[in-house]
Amino acid sequence: MSLAAEQTTIPVTALKGIGPKTGAALAKLGIHTTADLIRHYPCRFACYPALQTLNTAEEDTSIAVQATLQTTLTVIRRGRLVMTQGKLADVSGEIAVRWYNMPYLKKSLSPGRCLVFFGKVQKKGGLLFLEQPKIFRPEEYETLRAHPVPVYPLSSGITNRVLIRAIQESLSRMPFQPDWLPKELCSAHQLMDEDTAIREIHAPQSIPRLAAAKRRIIFNEFYEFLLGVRKMKERASLACSAFPMDCSDILSDARRFLPFSLTAFQEKVCLEITGDLSSGTVMNRLLQGDVGSGKTVVALIALYAAFRNGYQSAIMVPTEVLARQHQKTMEQLLRHAEQKPRILLLTGSLKDSEKKEVQKQIESHAADIVIGTHALIQEPVKFHRLALVVTDEQHRFGVQQRGIFAEKGLHPHMLVMSATPIPRTLAVILYGDLDISTIEARPSGRLPVKNAVIMKQERPNALLHIKRELEKGHQAYIICPLVEKSEFLDAENVLDYSEALKESFRGIASVGCLHGRMREEEKQQVMEDFAAQRIDILVSTTVIEVGIDVPNATVMMIEDAERYGLASLHQLRGRVGRGSGQSYCIFVQGKQSERGKKRLEILAHSNDGFAIAAADLKMRGPGELFGAEQSGELTFGLGDIYNDYPVLQTAKAVLEEYEPGENRKTLRQDVIL
Ligand code: ADP
Ligand code: MG
Repeated sequence: MSLAAEQTTIPVTALKGIGPKTGAALAKLGIHTTADLIRHYPCRFACYPALQTLNTAEEDTSIAVQATLQTTLTVIRRGRLVMTQGKLADVSGEIAVRWYNMPYLKKSLSPGRCLVFFGKVQKKGGLLFLEQPKIFRPEEYETLRAHPVPVYPLSSGITNRVLIRAIQESLSRMPFQPDWLPKELCSAHQLMDEDTAIREIHAPQSIPRLAAAKRRIIFNEFYEFLLGVRKMKERASLACSAFPMDCSDILSDARRFLPFSLTAFQEKVCLEITGDLSSGTVMNRLLQGDVGSGKTVVALIALYAAFRNGYQSAIMVPTEVLARQHQKTMEQLLRHAEQKPRILLLTGSLKDSEKKEVQKQIESHAADIVIGTHALIQEPVKFHRLALVVTDEQHRFGVQQRGIFAEKGLHPHMLVMSATPIPRTLAVILYGDLDISTIEARPSGRLPVKNAVIMKQERPNALLHIKRELEKGHQAYIICPLVEKSEFLDAENVLDYSEALKESFRGIASVGCLHGRMREEEKQQVMEDFAAQRIDILVSTTVIEVGIDVPNATVMMIEDAERYGLASLHQLRGRVGRGSGQSYCIFVQGKQSERGKKRLEILAHSNDGFAIAAADLKMRGPGELFGAEQSGELTFGLGDIYNDYPVLQTAKAVLEEYEPGENRKTLRQDVIL
């Protein structure tokens, strides 16, 4: 980090308008300094739609119209509700308009003025009307349309407006930084300058410039990832392992104590792993397997091997919910083992005193296996003879984070588990430098999930089906894209949806909800309630996606399914079909489109993640800028290995030509600013 950079990185609370409260809310998003702020990229961009004429207005869609108010507005009061009503017209027709709780509009909005109205078209008593539209002067609307507005990932206590302001201030304090990538390479590969890209992504001048900025930042992410993988491999080829293990009895032991027999594929990958562990060099292995293929037990066998050789080991998982679940599962699996490792949890939500206690136990080797979230690398943990680190659901972790162990002077064996079925072509690019083991089939004896793609109108039937499953004592998941109502996206949201369901299932079933804005303890509680069947229907965003194992849940209904990438949908679907009974997955298509339907049909016809991923890759065109169709395996801030496949290829090509040497620290991904 350069000196100038150090002086420009300041705590967010030093910015205008950010007090301790907002500062704390930002900290929840992992944002502490201005350097963190500028790397908090928009998750999408709000683009106001092109103007339409009134005769094209359709129920339940958001439209922007340039129209004139016909008469003075009238204000109607019904109890506490104040409605302001009027009529708009353009050359093509008329429409009623209505605002709630804005009586002052009557004065400020005089008839005859031509303005732009942006709002949702609703229908009542057979008549269409525009509900609560925002009002713009035409030239103001033109400007807005030309500049996409960034929409940032938020947490409670933060608004998008606050983030925009804070990020703009941080950028204005940031001096120009020369690019780490030589100019020749930038122009050869049509990459925007890095500094420009960072400024542009937060305040795009135009859509083509936004595309270029996004491409450059994604390039950085991929390049850093590939460089990380390469370094891991180099490190492995240099280092003799300080932790050679004797694994001769491990598998026969495991066969004796496990409650089920391993499948042929599990046996094969276990042999590959124990082979590495006993080889005398450091293991760098990727374990791939579709959802439900049984990776956990394979990880356990590796951890058990380390334990039997007197070493400590750790497994990193992306969420606390998953950490707890793993602990339970592993203790179950080890129930009949003669020698049992002691398993401890280290997660972010522990109280400070509890954390200290856990750390003490790790240091004194009172713990053999540590299961943890990010806390595992963030807290000052002193391991004792740490010989193996497993990371589960790898796509939520960056390679950098794994590199942190190396920086601590530790060189444990590494096993990276991924449920993302990456097609061979992609795997070779991403992990070409790692050894790969694949579990190619699920344990036999399970019924394949039955699928259906339906339209919104058919939802009542689907709910009936869910009700019948509940009557059999089973449980259901319902997935919505949004947490709460959004003015820009016509899509279902968890809060309203769960309220409505509570009404319709009153006295029949209990409904819970889960989303990323809840506190960790709340999420944990909901998951426990669901696992213990105190909740029958869980309405959730995709936070549910990763690794959750509740075999009694037999139905999943995914709303606005076309918004997700196929791989992501497949991961979601992996939450059902885990028990011996028949399971179902219902994809509800929110927007009618041939292409969307075709994509969903791929899923409906196959339960094989690899086949789906391959089909997905084939169907995707060039990356979609406002990617509603994120595929979900976001190893990266902005990049998506499917959507941005061409950028991944570019990154690979550049890495072949150029590796930053001493000045590597200027790579923004790293420490930077
Ligand atoms: P994933 O690969 O998605 O992490 P899990 O490890 O959670 O899959 O396994 C899915 C389910 O299959 C678990 O309930 C697990 O107990 C079970 N399972 C794993 N291996 C076997 C096996 N060999 N025979 C029977 N059931 C198994
Ligand atoms: Mg798993």
